[in-house]
Amino acid sequence: MLLPSSFLESLDGLPGYDRALFEAAHAHADPITSIRINPSKPVDLSFSLERVPWTLFGSYVNPRPSFTFDPNFHGGAYYVQEASSMLLEQAFIQSGLQNQSIRALDLCAAPGGKATHLHSLLAPESLLVANEVIRARTGLLRDNIVKWGAENVVVTQNDPGQFERLPDYFDWITLDAPCSGSGMFRKDHEAITAWTPAQVNHCALRQQRILQSAWKALKPGGILFYATCSYSAAENEAIADWFIKEYEAVFQPIQLDSSWGVVETKNGYRCWPHFVKGEGFFFTCLKKIHSDVAVNPSYRFEKSKQIKKATLYPSLNGWVELAGMEVMEIGEELMALPKMYQADWQLIQQALNPLYAGIRLGKWMRDKLVPDHALALSNRLSSAVAKLPLDKQQAIAYLQRKEINADFGTKGWVVAAYQGLSLGWLNVLSGRANNYYPKGLRILKDHL
Ligand code: SAM
Repeated sequence: MLLPSSFLESLDGLPGYDRALFEAAHAHADPITSIRINPSKPVDLSFSLERVPWTLFGSYVNPRPSFTFDPNFHGGAYYVQEASSMLLEQAFIQSGLQNQSIRALDLCAAPGGKATHLHSLLAPESLLVANEVIRARTGLLRDNIVKWGAENVVVTQNDPGQFERLPDYFDWITLDAPCSGSGMFRKDHEAITAWTPAQVNHCALRQQRILQSAWKALKPGGILFYATCSYSAAENEAIADWFIKEYEAVFQPIQLDSSWGVVETKNGYRCWPHFVKGEGFFFTCLKKIHSDVAVNPSYRFEKSKQIKKATLYPSLNGWVELAGMEVMEIGEELMALPKMYQADWQLIQQALNPLYAGIRLGKWMRDKLVPDHALALSNRLSSAVAKLPLDKQQAIAYLQRKEINADFGTKGWVVAAYQGLSLGWLNVLSGRANNYYPKGLRILKDHL
């Protein structure tokens, strides 16, 4: 792995940088794999785990198993995530927001690593908006949110500038900025050839723009978590310094155990691969003091779309735990959202472009529910719904969308489950069952 000399020279003098150690960490790196458990789902993992010390949920996995052939992965029992990124947990816990009902935003959320992590840390009565501007990346984000089983998440597709329509709105914003990606060189060799000083400058200008918009949407007293997976000071310390000066943002120091190897730098924290068991990462926490009420959204709020409260579905009770939830209709589709966030939902619909919200329950057809995949994976699935326990081989066949052989018992809709974890729907007819696992999610490979 030959690193560009202009890149290595650009790191000279940075806190914690040691060229020989840094090059060695790239030359002889054993790939590091880590996962983060979903605390709201049952999980019984067969592979060997070693805790990532800065999070309650993360573990290193060695050797790397086949995630594709693990039903737990498809059922949302865990997320495969780079370990340094999980430092978000320390920043969030130490922000003091953990036990409050808050509005949180992940502005650059796809594919959903930090958004699902943040969701596991939020008090249950909180609302999370997971946004991704690039449309092609929103499908994966939505799928990962659905897998996580959460009902208090809205997925949006908006440019950061459009969040200025919601001034002083969010208590917490995660801004995991698009960057030059040098921190991932060990995992993404193509990024090495793409790296140029001009690309770093281009990213830094974009980061400034995104940060300015995000800041407007942050409440006074709120915290913005800014992060990149770049080593370049221009995308990290220089951005934090500029922002603190220009916007009177206040840097929030975080206590980190020295054994973790994270280096404190000017107004932020760095993970170097020669000190931390993880990839390159920078983060900082900035507190907003002054309101932005002067920001007058020039935007005229749209009328809410054709979504109405649904009232006539008494039999939904056998499908979904509806306490504290409101059921809404979008055409034939039914979705459920926490009642306490109805006003926010209205506002988000008017100001942003929501693609998914709450739990999609399914379609109401001929007085019956045709359930949606999201309901099967939701933490709100009613315990009255029958589950069909599958062994690993059957579960994999189910996830490949094959016909499965089992003793189906009752007729009608049942949830295919592996070790108690819901995977999706089966519709049982006489002696056989139709497999309703979504085509787009199925395992394409035949064998390990
Ligand atoms: N937070 C994600 C996670 O933990 O899974 C990773 C986010 S990645 C570092 C940065 C994201 O920013 C990408 O999803 C990318 O599509 C998005 N992005 C690219 N250009 C952007 C822009 N101009 N404004 C906002 N986001 C952008």
